Amino acid sequence: MTSVESTLALHLKNAGFSLTEPRLKVFKALQDDGPLSMQELYSRVSSINRTTVYRVIELFEELKIAQRVAKGWKYHLELTDDFIPHHHHFTCTNCHKTISFDEPKSFDVMLETVANHNGFLPTAHTLEIEGLCSDCRVLA
Ligand SMILES: [Zn+2]
Ligand SMILES: [Zn+2]
Repeated sequence: MTSVESTLALHLKNAGFSLTEPRLKVFKALQDDGPLSMQELYSRVSSINRTTVYRVIELFEELKIAQRVAKGWKYHLELTDDFIPHHHHFTCTNCHKTISFDEPKSFDVMLETVANHNGFLPTAHTLEIEGLCSDCRVLA
């Protein structure tokens, strides 16, 4: 078991759940290919029936193992910061490709400054950017 998988096992155990085969498979699909739509997730774990996948996601959301990422008016699922490094996404409005990027430290500093000015204490944030990817820019 990798260290991230033992973190998952511990996370589940603390909440009174065990690490079952479907839970591990869904987790690995999100880890390798996330963010994924439910449809994409279903096709990546096609050996597991859809109701089970849906229940696993429901549990993962409840336990903050996975979270929803807005993509236009839909959403995709990905692992939370507890399991993958904190990052954000660029989504191409033309080909719908999603590109992850690490946020620069200066962004955190700027965010904290803006929050402080408003007497606000941020505990979490999301940042989704839409536009054209490098391939689609060339065609535009
Ligand atoms: Zn961030
Ligand atoms: Zn594109």
